[in-house]
This record gives sequence, C-alpha cells and structure tokens, in this order.
Amino acid sequence: MSRKPITRLLLVEDNAGDARLIREMLDEPGSRQIELTHVPCMRDAERHLAQHATDIIVLDLGLPDAQGLEAVQRGRAAAPRTPLVVLTGLDDESLAELALQAGAQEHLIKDQIDARALLRALRYAVERKTMEEALLAEKERAQATLNCIGDAVACTDSSGNVSFLNLVAERLTGWSWREAAGRPMVEVLRIVKGASREGSSSQVEGVIGDGPALASPSNHILVRRDGVQIPVEDSVAPIHDREGLTDGAVTVFRDVSAGRAKALQMTHSAEHDFLTGLPNRMLLNDRLRHAIALAPRHRKQVAVLFLDLDGFKHINDSLGHAIGDKLLQSIAGRLVACVRGADTVCRQGGDEFVVLLSEVERPEDIAVMARRMLKAVAKAHFIDQHDLHVTTSIGASVFPDDGLDAETLMKNADTAMYQAKENGRESCQFFRPAMNARAEERQSMEESLRRALERHEFELHYQPKIDLRTGEITGGEALIRWTHPLRGLVAPSQFIPVAEDSGLILPIGDWVLREACRQARAWVDAGLRLTTIAVNISGMEFRAERFLEGVFAILEETRLDPRCLQLELTESVLMRHAASTEAILGKLRAIGVQVAVDDFGTGYSSLSVLSQFPIDVLKIDQSFVRQITTSPDRTTIVAAVIGMGQNLNLRVIAEGAETEEELAFLQAHHCDEAQGHYFSRPVPPREFARMLRSGISERLLPLRGQIGGAPLVELQLDI
Ligand code: C2E
Ligand code: MG
Ligand code: MG
Repeated sequence: MSRKPITRLLLVEDNAGDARLIREMLDEPGSRQIELTHVPCMRDAERHLAQHATDIIVLDLGLPDAQGLEAVQRGRAAAPRTPLVVLTGLDDESLAELALQAGAQEHLIKDQIDARALLRALRYAVERKTMEEALLAEKERAQATLNCIGDAVACTDSSGNVSFLNLVAERLTGWSWREAAGRPMVEVLRIVKGASREGSSSQVEGVIGDGPALASPSNHILVRRDGVQIPVEDSVAPIHDREGLTDGAVTVFRDVSAGRAKALQMTHSAEHDFLTGLPNRMLLNDRLRHAIALAPRHRKQVAVLFLDLDGFKHINDSLGHAIGDKLLQSIAGRLVACVRGADTVCRQGGDEFVVLLSEVERPEDIAVMARRMLKAVAKAHFIDQHDLHVTTSIGASVFPDDGLDAETLMKNADTAMYQAKENGRESCQFFRPAMNARAEERQSMEESLRRALERHEFELHYQPKIDLRTGEITGGEALIRWTHPLRGLVAPSQFIPVAEDSGLILPIGDWVLREACRQARAWVDAGLRLTTIAVNISGMEFRAERFLEGVFAILEETRLDPRCLQLELTESVLMRHAASTEAILGKLRAIGVQVAVDDFGTGYSSLSVLSQFPIDVLKIDQSFVRQITTSPDRTTIVAAVIGMGQNLNLRVIAEGAETEEELAFLQAHHCDEAQGHYFSRPVPPREFARMLRSGISERLLPLRGQIGGAPLVELQLDI
C-alpha cells in the first residue's frame, strides 16, 4: 500500500504553548515539509475543514467548545476520510481508548511528545486510516454484491445475532438490516415447517455449534414480521474465521410461492376437467377406491351414477361448440348443487358425468338423488339467448351388491345407463345382472356384423316415394336389411348404431351405395321410370376423408346418372362443421347428385341455416307426421315446415305416412311427396320393380280412378 505524504496538517489546540511546541517539532530538520494550520477551537476547525483539503488532523480533546468524545465525533463528521490523532493529558488513558473506538487512528499524550514520536504517530494514523478505508470499500462492494443477487441472505455473528441482511432478506422478513442488527436470528427470520407450522429455526444454532451445513428445500414457511406467511426454500452454512473456527452463520433463502403455486396448479389440472373444473376420471377413480375401502368400516354403501345427456350432440352440432361448452358448465353446476360435500361429481368426457355417492345409508336415497338430478338437468338452461332443454339418462350401480371394485362398478353403471336410454331417456336405471348379458349381446352382434358382408347377409329393400299431386312413384329409398343366420331379420335401428360405434359402417355403407346404384342402373336399363334412388349416409361416412372419391368412383363404376342419386343426411350431420359440409355438398351438386335432409325437425337446426347449403329435399320426420292426427293443435308446425321448405325451393317429403287422415292433411297443405306404410312398406327389389313398372302407387289407383286424373288435393274432399 503506497503511503500518502503528509503535507497539510490541521492542529486544533486552544493552548497556545502546546501549539507552539508541536509547530517547533514539525519544523525540526528531518521532518518533511509539513504545512501546519493552527486553530484554537472546534468551530474554526470545522470551518477550515469545510474549505481546505487536509491530510491529517491533530485534535486536542479539551477544547473550549468541544470536550472529549464530542470533539472526536465533530472532527469525524467534518472530515470523515481524514486521519485523526488525538491529544490527551497523562491521566486520560481511558478517554484515549474511547476516542480510538470512536474513529481516531492514534493518540498522543501531551507531556510525552517528542518530534520522533509525533512523526511516527502521524505516519501510523495515515496508514491505519488508509487500511480502514480499503476495508470499508471491500465491505461495501461485498454488500452491494449480496444486494444484487435474487436470493435473500442473512448473516449472524457467533452468538447467533443478526449481523447482516441483504435487500431481499429485508423485503422477505419485513426487517431492515439496521433494526435487525444484533437481534437473535430466530426473532428476525421466523421459519416454520409447512405442514406442522412448528419452528425450525434452531438450524442456525445447530450450524454455529459446528454442525454441518443444512439445506432444507422441503416446504418451509417464513413468517414475515407482519405475520404474512411465505413459502421458502432455505439453507444454512457456517462462516469460518481464518483459524477455521465458526464465527457465525449465513442463511440463504428464497421465496418459492410462485413455483409452489404452479406445482399446485399442475396437480389440480392433472386431476380436473378443464372445461367444468370438476374432478376428472383419474381423481374419481381415486375417490371411488377410497370410498370402497372405507364403506365396510362405516357400514355404508357406495353408489356410482353414470349420466349421459340425451340430445346433447344435436345442440353441439347445430348451435356450435361454444354454446355446447356453456351448457356442459351449466349442467356441471346444477349437478354439484344436488350432491352433498362428501360426494363427487366428475366429468368423464364428452357429455358424460359420473356422480359418486360415497356414504349411502339406504338404497332409496340413491333413487331420490337421481330424481333430483334428472329434474335439475331438465330445467331450461338459458345460454346466449337460447332456451336450451336437455335431459339425461342415469345408470346406477351400488357397492357391494353390483361390484366389489371400482372398475366393475363403473362398467355396470355404464351398462345400466344404456338400459335407461333404451327405456325412453330421462330416467334412472339400477343395474341388474341381466344387463351384462345385453352388453355381451352387443359385443356378439359386432362380431357377427364383421362377417355379415362377406357372408352376403345384407340386402336392400326399397320403399317408394309418391308424388302427392299425381300419385306417381318418383323413386325409392334404399333401406338395408340384415338376415342373421341364427337371429333372423335384425332391424337397422339395432345394428346401425353398433356399426357406427365400431367403424363397420364404412364398408357397409360402401356396399349399400354400390348396390343401390347398381340396382337403379339395372332398372333404368330395363326401361323402368325412376326419378331418384335415395341412399342413407351416416355421419361417419360423410366425414370420412375419401367420402366424395368413393361416391364418384361408384357412380362411374355403375354408370348411374348422378342426377338419379339422392343422398339422405340427417340435419345434425349437416350442421357439424358447416364450412366443410358446404364444400362437400357443393361438389355433389356440381355433378348433379341431390341431397335430402333426413328426419328434419328432430335436431336444433333452423331452416334458415340449412338453406345456406345446396340442398334439394326436406324429409319431415315421422314424429311430426304422427302429430297430425294425435295432437291436432300442433298441425300448424307441420304446415309451417311445408310452407317454409317450399319457399326455399326445396321439395318436401313427409316420412311415415300411415293413415288416410295424415295423407289428407299433407295433400291439403301441398306437401310434394310422401313415403310410408300407407303406400307401401319397404319391399325387396323384385317387388319394387313391379311397382315401378306400374309407375303408380296401387293404393292411390282407386282414388285416381275416381277423379280421373284430377289433382289429389281436390280428391281430398271426397275421402
Ligand atoms: P330413415 O332413413 O328415416 O328411414 C325411414 C324408416 O322409417 C325406415 O325404417 C322405414 O322402414 C320406416 N318407415 C317407413 N314408412 C313408415 C311408416 O309408415 N311407419 C313407420 N312406423 N315406419 C316407417 P328402417 O328401415 O328400420 O330404418 C331405420 C333407420 O335406419 C333409417 O331411418 C336410417 O336412418 C337407418 N338406415 C336404414 N338403412 C340404412 C343404410 O343403408 N345406411 C344407413 N347409414 N342407415 C340406414
Ligand atoms: Mg332415410
Ligand atoms: Mg327418416
């Protein structure tokens, strides 16, 4: 360290004799050129220091305006970086000691000073001050560094009292370093164990007592000065002095609330349904297992209710996913409101919910709860200006009667739910062992279906469509028939859903379309008059990637005029993915294939939306036609649909016309065509060919005869 030369000395001394003595010593040969300024009091000294650079101060501690330590403090305050040598009397040894502690670097006893001692004292004072300054700078740099890091740092001395807090530590503990300094660390850094809230702050003492460094990343909580609890990770390590002895401890800690919140949120989202916030399948399984384990001990039963909404798909397809999602949320809310705190409502996915009743005392309670849920779901849901109505079907299984483990209970509740649907929806069905037989039956049907194509068990029947003005047969709808070698004739309503679930509908639909086109072409070739042949297309076929290619290929292969082909699609299939529907229908229309909306009126679509698609025919669903006679007040609906369809330039066909009254009504309201048992059931191809040959419905023949070809609408009056 280079020593600074002393050139400017300030002597503060009221005793003129003493001052002269010192000046003389400094003037002696051998001492360097020192420029001495003498002032007699503290005020003058302060004034001088404020205006002049000074290398060292020699200060008498018995000044008229500043005595003892006060003189030292004022000297330090006036020139904090200037070395200070104090002058005391012979008997002032203890004052000298205090002066050194208060910041003086050296002291001289007045009566014992000689020139050499004075010069040496001056030199030592300068050296000591330089060293002190360097140390201070080093310490400040260290503190600045500690204040820059993101972790909190708190140090103690060897007795466990706080000696330092960095800025982060100040913020997290709520203590300023100044306030905390000297207090026991346990008081400032109150860390407790997360789970038990027990104190864990003896760590510092453990480390100071020469224990090992401790890291405790587990869930510790820091209790801030104002009582706020902050999750932290902390570690404590000993501080050693140069001899290797423990001189204190340093605790490093950090706020982990953000990380912990994220971890909690991740656990939550792994176990909950994103849309409704309800527990998901995984959490339900856990809870179900838990409930099963506890039930025997509490002598309680556990019930699993499997809910599947009726008609949700229609709403989702026709009004869009956004509304469908809100409806699911609304239903979730209502189900939760039905159950007790110990029960769990879970969303299985799609429109399925499962409710776990974990402490059932009497089986009757399950039925009561199920009825409450049926009612809650069925109440109108008002969503985005729509009054939506859905119902639900519930299947229930009970532990221990219907299964001893979670899987069996879930499976059996699911099976019971299917039965509830078949019972007519909006009902609750308890599981019965016989139902398992049904589930197995479904499985076996799927297996039979797989082989039905190659075994040529399918055939097509055709049902005529009649022009209500002329009685002429305009065409026919191809309807599949399956004759199973053992079961006999199986209805489409029984096997089409199984074929759709299993994907088998794709090869089956392909066969139907090819067979219908081949047959139609054969009839045309035979000279029979056939305007159109209608083929039912299921949603899965329509959405298949190569659907259009398949249709085009079959038309080419069978050489049927595309204008003779009419594809029947239900409105919910059309409404799903409206944009791609429009594109597909556009391509069909471009080559002349017609499109009919089947079962119109059973979905949620509106005519105005449907009318945006290139559609040719509207088939009013049988259920509406049936209402013509059963609830006459609703006839206006049918009349309105006929009118609206025609306004949109669509041909309107009534499905399922069975009686004369129905027919009369349809004719009176200018419905274009009708199809139904009144005219003919679906018949095998040979029989259908016979009808085509006559070209006219035999049922209408007598009527035509009576009116001699007059429009049937007028004939109506005579019926
Ligand atoms: P859909 O397309 O609405 O066909 C009309 C259904 O009503 C046919 O039942 C028909 O036999 C029946 N029906 C016709 N007139 C009357 C009547 O006056 N009274 C009554 N009660 N019923 C009448 P089917 O043949 O049992 O077919 C049922 C459904 O199965 C069809 O409804 C259609 O959705 C589907 N389906 C039939 N064949 C095929 C097919 O080849 N492919 C596809 N994807 N679905 C088909
Ligand atoms: Mg149809
Ligand atoms: Mg139909």
